[in-house]
Amino acid sequence: MTAPEIKTPLPGPKAKALIERDAKYVSPSYTRGYPLVIARGEGAVVEDVDGNRFLDCAAGIAVNSTGHSHPDVVRAIVDQAQKFLHMSGTDFYYEPQVRLAEEIASIVPMPGGVKSFFANSGTEANEAAIKLARYHSKRPFLIAFMGSFHGRTLGSLSLTASRAVQRKGFGPTAPGTFHTPYADCYRCPLGLKAENCAAECLNYLEEQVLVQLVTPDEVAAIVVEPIQGEGGYLVPPKTFHDRLRALTEKHGILLIADEVQSGMGRTGKMFASEHFGLEPDIMSMAKGIASGLPLGVTAARASVMDWTPGAHASTFGGNPVSCAAALATIKLLKDQLIANAATVGEHLIAGVRDLQARHPLIGDVRGKGLMIGIEFVRDRQTKERATTERDRIVDKMFARGVLVLGAGRNTIRLSPPLVLTKAEADACLQALDGAIGDVEREPA
Ligand code: PLP
Repeated sequence: MTAPEIKTPLPGPKAKALIERDAKYVSPSYTRGYPLVIARGEGAVVEDVDGNRFLDCAAGIAVNSTGHSHPDVVRAIVDQAQKFLHMSGTDFYYEPQVRLAEEIASIVPMPGGVKSFFANSGTEANEAAIKLARYHSKRPFLIAFMGSFHGRTLGSLSLTASRAVQRKGFGPTAPGTFHTPYADCYRCPLGLKAENCAAECLNYLEEQVLVQLVTPDEVAAIVVEPIQGEGGYLVPPKTFHDRLRALTEKHGILLIADEVQSGMGRTGKMFASEHFGLEPDIMSMAKGIASGLPLGVTAARASVMDWTPGAHASTFGGNPVSCAAALATIKLLKDQLIANAATVGEHLIAGVRDLQARHPLIGDVRGKGLMIGIEFVRDRQTKERATTERDRIVDKMFARGVLVLGAGRNTIRLSPPLVLTKAEADACLQALDGAIGDVEREPA
């Protein structure tokens, strides 16, 4: 399939009918930005129920790592489904789960032995990470970063500090979590210069949070996204992670890397942590790990994963079909797709930087591999956030047949399947050029 190819007004008649049914029966908490109703997908192309074809630069929120319905993944799913669908790894053993745990131990950047706990989603992987950190350290408190997103169940929601609407009406969240600034160096949260941003953010953690709010010996873990995802695809400098790791080691605090969005090859390395030489104690994964089947994994150094039988479990976690999909996914990532993410990502980010030279609305371009953020501003000097403009660009991209999603308040994320070709990247750039130009010509 090729894309973009738009044949009907959007939404088309069949899409419209389905959206009306959805409005009547499906939870209104979902945030659908534009009316895409998928009928099928192949590679980085999605066809809707009216036969319109879209280039997918969203990948179901950074999930379809190997593209839509990659034949190797589908084959692995079918083969496993024909054998057995479920047995519960909580109570019984099966080979796909053991094999996946072995595979994960071999790919995560953690020295020494590694063990894995299996869940169904990113939020559950983080719940397990929180519980494990408290259990192992026997310490009560947690520290997370402003702008972070770690999930929406109550434990992980207490870590999440991305958008207040995600917490509104649900408080109080779990007590004992403190937040500290993340190195968002384009607009340093401490109002300083980009060159000082990482150091100042960590000074704040070290000299204020760990002095005025909580003593280090009561902190179980610091949870960090190596590259912040929902917060706006923020790439901190290496010094930020170096010093954070040193600080946690100094105080015996566990470092949890949330690689739910940044992991599984997306950044041109298996894990974003590798760009920074970061070796965490616990790592959470989900999203791209099984190409779209539900799976969450909490990997930890074997010396840390010391909880005893009954301490934590999940009926469905590590479902055999999801494990089979993950094994096929990881093989594809290692064989071709991590390399493709690096080369096509470089091509795409260079193309977006060219657009930045021509479009004053683009304030900042950042990313690694195929995890690319484009931040929009009304004025490059004041950096006033171009939030409504960002939303309009997302809509115009849809109208032009390219699927993208926002991140943070005024950023568009490009998180396509890792099978994206250079030609498809060029089609995305062409649509971006047009959509941004339209918004610049027609201010709200
Ligand atoms: N952690 C990160 C970094 C994420 O980006 C997300 C989802 O966007 C989550 C956790 C939560 O994952 P899930 O939606 O699978 O619960």
